[in-house]
Amino acid sequence: MSPDLTPSPDLFDAETRVLSAARATFDDPHAGLAEHREALGGLLAGYERLLRETRRLIGRSDREELEMNRLNQRLHELAGELEYRATHDSLTGVLNRAAVIEHARTLLGTSGMALVVLDIDHFKRINDSFGHPVGDQVIRGVVACLQPLVPPAARIGRVGGEEFTVLLPGRSIDVAETLAEQMRAAIAAHDFHLPDRSAVTASFGVGALAKGSSFDVAYRCADEALYAAKRGGRNRVMCADHVYG
Ligand code: GH3
Ligand code: MG
Ligand code: MG
Repeated sequence: MSPDLTPSPDLFDAETRVLSAARATFDDPHAGLAEHREALGGLLAGYERLLRETRRLIGRSDREELEMNRLNQRLHELAGELEYRATHDSLTGVLNRAAVIEHARTLLGTSGMALVVLDIDHFKRINDSFGHPVGDQVIRGVVACLQPLVPPAARIGRVGGEEFTVLLPGRSIDVAETLAEQMRAAIAAHDFHLPDRSAVTASFGVGALAKGSSFDVAYRCADEALYAAKRGGRNRVMCADHVYG
């Protein structure tokens, strides 16, 4: 297809013609009053039309700018929502597994960190006895027990169905152990309103990570401590016995 070579129309074609005619009258030493009046009339009409058009265009451009700002704002909100959904667990609102791992690796680049892992005891029984929705309520309730206890810089993550991690940047294993004990006691004392009035408990493993250490190795050690707590009778806190580098 050959390119369209038609010249684009001059937007101000009419105004240019009125202006040329007025200029010619102005420059003509023999032009009489009638010609001057006609040129002035043409200029007035053209000027008024330009004003009307300019007002209309400014109004339109203001409306379009407002709409563009609104769309831009919405885009930012949607990007934020997308980021939130990609990094948070939809049931509890805490970090999801991938975000916990990424956050831990970022923190370990700059500081040491203690790590608490916890797993709800005999959770399958809750699901089997009272149904999945009650199980979900218990998962949310456990997170609600943890939230008021964690320090501001700490993050809670859901790393499995009924398994959570609390990342404690810059904290020692002793501080983490004390905190884990408070969490354990808070869950055991909480009334989850189960139909049989039974209590819910969780088991805890605590580990510490030196700056620059491998999160995978340290997590495995805290996880082993957690399973020692399970084997030891559940509803208890066990510590990995040294700092893993
Ligand atoms: P233990 O004390 O050894 O940890 O026993 P447990 O019964 O808690 O552990 P098990 O791994 O046998 O059962 C975990 C159950 O958690 C099995 C699975 O169906 C359930 N589960 C996983 N994700 C969810 C969830 O999002 N909601 C509910 N309601 N249940 C879940
Ligand atoms: Mg469990
Ligand atoms: Mg489990």
